[in-house]
Amino acid sequence: MTSSSKYRKKRQAAKEIPCACCGKLPPFCWRCRCGFAICQDCMEKNLWGMTCNGITWECPDCGDQNGFGNQ
Ligand SMILES: [Zn+2]
Ligand SMILES: [Zn+2]
Repeated sequence: MTSSSKYRKKRQAAKEIPCACCGKLPPFCWRCRCGFAICQDCMEKNLWGMTCNGITWECPDCGDQNGFGNQ
């Protein structure tokens, strides 16, 4: 009788995505569905290039439009 205890693979926590800009892992990140993440700091610095209306920001990776405050 063999008890094969299957070790669960360590889940690679994909929910903690570092900022694509500064590489830090801030408590809050703006995220895109494609996995792109940018922290508030970098978002503010790059706001001119991320949004044209202040309502949505465009993901530089996939070009998707993401709404502010719509996490
Ligand atoms: Zn950042
Ligand atoms: Zn994206």
